[in-house]
Amino acid sequence: MAVITDKYGRSFSTLRVSLLHHCNLGCVYCVSGNDELKQANASGKTDTMAADRLLAMIDRLHRQLQLSTIRLTGGEPLLYPGLVDLIRGIKAIGISSIKLTTNGFLLERLALPLKEAGMQSINVSLDALDEDVFFAMSRRHSVDRIIRGIDAALAAGLNVKLNTVAMKGINDSQLLPLAAFAAERGLKIRYLEVMAMGHLYAQADRHLLTRDEILDILSRRYVLTPLDREASATARYWQAQGGPVIGIIANESEPFCRDCDRLRLDSSGNIYGCLSSNHPIALGLEETEEEWGQRLQQAMAQKQLVRFTGSDLSMLQIGG
Ligand code: SAM
Repeated sequence: MAVITDKYGRSFSTLRVSLLHHCNLGCVYCVSGNDELKQANASGKTDTMAADRLLAMIDRLHRQLQLSTIRLTGGEPLLYPGLVDLIRGIKAIGISSIKLTTNGFLLERLALPLKEAGMQSINVSLDALDEDVFFAMSRRHSVDRIIRGIDAALAAGLNVKLNTVAMKGINDSQLLPLAAFAAERGLKIRYLEVMAMGHLYAQADRHLLTRDEILDILSRRYVLTPLDREASATARYWQAQGGPVIGIIANESEPFCRDCDRLRLDSSGNIYGCLSSNHPIALGLEETEEEWGQRLQQAMAQKQLVRFTGSDLSMLQIGG
């Protein structure tokens, strides 16, 4: 089976799998009011795929696409029952790089088992160190617990990066303290421009801190030297003198669609070629390889060329 590519030379070499679409936090960029929050936090048993079915789908996608990287996300992937076995299964399929994005709430006890199962690298989302600001971002008090999770991950030998969504008027005050925290632990930290997704579809601008505004804030304390961008990378990086390596994922200011290599699989078995698409493409295990090839071409055609255009699907559903 030939690898799927488009005329711009893009292929799918990274698969992001949303294991479930519920979460134990209620971050303001994912969910809006109380009703949505209750729904996001409900431990719905219907929004996950059993591990054997999920592994069969991943195996088949790997055979068709020769994936180099898989990233497990959600919802909150640490809530997935049987996560450790799932990681062992993915390793056995032969995908060389297994990564995960988590809010860290359950990381303290899971870090070592994850590492032992074959996980190499995790991104921990941490939007504030101040408890009140953290609560304003996530509607939960858990900074200490997440820090214990990060330290457990480092002790287990996992490669850890921090992700911070920068939201004007909410956590601007936290960007510098988080950089200092990252530096203390020798971690890379990436700041994300807020994206027009889900309930923010038509109003992300209200909270957008642009790449230049983020750089202005960081420059109050650090001299920043730009580093080279790696192909397909979502972030551009700077070395902060006396501080951490800082990345900015600037979906709005500096879109990176041109060499995007990501395919997304949600917890119902739908694929998406682009975060801007709210058209799920269903994959069925009973379908032929040829039919999967057609679905994958459809997903490739969803990719934007120039910029992210927004979607009314939240990352909670499609996978962040
Ligand atoms: N629960 C896990 C976590 O918190 O990392 C994984 C899923 S969560 C959807 C992954 C990440 O998506 C968030 O931490 C955040 O960085 C990003 N995200 C979600 N919605 C976003 C938005 N509207 N704009 C920017 N980033 C967003």
